[in-house]
Amino acid sequence: MSTNNRYKRQIILPEIGQNGQGKISRASILCVGAGGLGCPALLYLTAAGIGRISIIDFDTVDETNLQRQVLFTGDQLGKSKAEAAKERLNALNPEIEIHAYAEELTDKNAENFFKQHDIIIDGTDNFSSKFLINDTAIKTGKPFIYGSILGFDGQLAVFNHDGGPCYRCLFPEAPKAHIPNCAETGVIGAVAGIIGTSQAMEALKIIVDHKSFKPLTGKLWTIDMRSMENQLLSLPKDKDCPVCSKQKDEIMLQYTSPVCGFIPEISPAQTAARKNARLIDVREIDEWNAGHIEGAQHIALSTLMQGNIPSLPAEDEIILYCLKGGRSLQAAQILKNHGNLNISNMTGGYEAWLAARHV
Ligand SMILES: [Zn+2]
Repeated sequence: MSTNNRYKRQIILPEIGQNGQGKISRASILCVGAGGLGCPALLYLTAAGIGRISIIDFDTVDETNLQRQVLFTGDQLGKSKAEAAKERLNALNPEIEIHAYAEELTDKNAENFFKQHDIIIDGTDNFSSKFLINDTAIKTGKPFIYGSILGFDGQLAVFNHDGGPCYRCLFPEAPKAHIPNCAETGVIGAVAGIIGTSQAMEALKIIVDHKSFKPLTGKLWTIDMRSMENQLLSLPKDKDCPVCSKQKDEIMLQYTSPVCGFIPEISPAQTAARKNARLIDVREIDEWNAGHIEGAQHIALSTLMQGNIPSLPAEDEIILYCLKGGRSLQAAQILKNHGNLNISNMTGGYEAWLAARHV
């Protein structure tokens, strides 16, 4: 198959042409996360012929991923997402270079990864990773394509591009309030597909740089896919931004792993059998007062997030629960970071506990 034939349908666009295709073939992209956003973004970037693509994701393919992470198939369960994605993308386009890194992007390795690529795709779903991506992008002078979904809502923006604002100009710090993730609120695959695909399009626009292209630099596109009502908001650059107003060498990278996968899950039945474990309810006080598991102790996630960490004996076996199992995962990570390593999350939370008792 000749290269020109493969890309014929995009080369005939006057905005792309041979010149644009040449730029695409010389470009390199780092995609952080091969999840709901990363999968569609990677599919279209690979198909378009980006010369070198790197995928970094520490996670493995789980059955609940298949509903939206369209690169993976049922026979890849348990496999590294980065490797599984590479396999699929190589089959789609063997003419380009694809690298898989089955590791977590952290404050230690981020700078090195970013320096080796032109553009970063943010396929992450938590503030800690997004801040790390933003701060590293500024430190290394790379644009990054931000995407975010929650329920039926999607957001898209291009940060640190062409003198435009950064993610911290919009969100200087992580909100104190609990932000639910997709595991708690649910998500339809197509919503992630639209945002991830749009991230690929923004990257291609920046690479080709045709005068008619207007990347979302300094803009935030939001869409509610229940109605398709959408808005294009202007984002001003904050001259007091905690990151992009600083000199590059003053920017200190920080990262707290929000990793859910490293916290073992435990069923309500198993929880009931662990008589010696310390059971902690991390819901808010009104939820606790309305009913909780007998023998549990109450430490709200909001308390932990404010930095009020109780000192629990490091050798204790701890089982955390919330209403559905999402908030307790976050709480587990916080306690883990404070030295409580023998920690599990009760799958399905208090709801599952009640359901298990009533069957
Ligand atoms: Zn900024």
